[in-house]
Amino acid sequence: MKNCVVTGASSGIGEATVRLLREHGYKVYMGARREDRLRKLSGETGAKGHVLDVTDPASVRDFVRHLPEEIHVLVNNAGGALGLEPVCEMKEDDWLGMYQSNVLGTARMIREVFPRLSRSGDGSHVVNVGSIAAIETYLGGAGYTGAKHALRALTETLRLEWLGLPIRVTQIDPGLVETEFSVVRFGGDAVRAAKVYEGMTPLVAGDVADAIVWTLTRPPHVNIDQIVIRPRDQARADKVFRAVGPD
Ligand code: NAP
Repeated sequence: MKNCVVTGASSGIGEATVRLLREHGYKVYMGARREDRLRKLSGETGAKGHVLDVTDPASVRDFVRHLPEEIHVLVNNAGGALGLEPVCEMKEDDWLGMYQSNVLGTARMIREVFPRLSRSGDGSHVVNVGSIAAIETYLGGAGYTGAKHALRALTETLRLEWLGLPIRVTQIDPGLVETEFSVVRFGGDAVRAAKVYEGMTPLVAGDVADAIVWTLTRPPHVNIDQIVIRPRDQARADKVFRAVGPD
């Protein structure tokens, strides 16, 4: 049985990935900051949960100490956006938070889990959850797009550094997915968050989980470099078709 690690498993894409991996028979080790959510998901799926804050090196080391010696798959999903201010109104804490979770957090996880991935032999795999923000920019998005562009650079560099090792490296870049993402981005403002998906059909977390698990289940000599996955109603980050209401 393959051992899989999923970060940011307490909601959205991470939670859906844990559920799908369990359905496919993987053993799952999951982390996030909200322990109560992990406990509930653990009860429902049998995945093992341990508290994890990817922005804190000590928390990452403690999380990894609880993992088995061999890890076959690491899904770096923890992250998200904070704010939508123009550059000249940037909030430094938000930008630092986005770089900490999306970029440094991912790099930390990879550094600490790498020895366990190496031990697992042919078929090891790192999947980084990026975004279309890794390949596009949009108004007010510089902090988040900057962080996800940096994540893409990290993913591509890993593929160079690990050339010759039996570890695959994939980045999944979704467009609009309805999760807690926008509620977090807008500091808990659920009304503003709901407007992001108004009049259009977004992806659901399970669509992205499906793409992640598809990359894992290719033969071990096949590396899926990148998947860009958007709702049909979205042509670019800032080009979204919205149906007009009756009045
Ligand atoms: P979500 O529902 O808000 O989930 C984010 C997850 O990340 C939560 O489980 C959260 O758990 C965890 N997380 C955040 N900061 C963390 C930290 N410091 N340490 C550990 N875990 C942390 O949003 P989502 O849409 O599923 O987002 C998952 C990933 O997809 C993110 O990387 C996001 O950038 C990316 N993405 C989302 C969309 C979208 O439209 N939804 C589009 C493209 C890419 P805790 O708060 O419990 O720690």
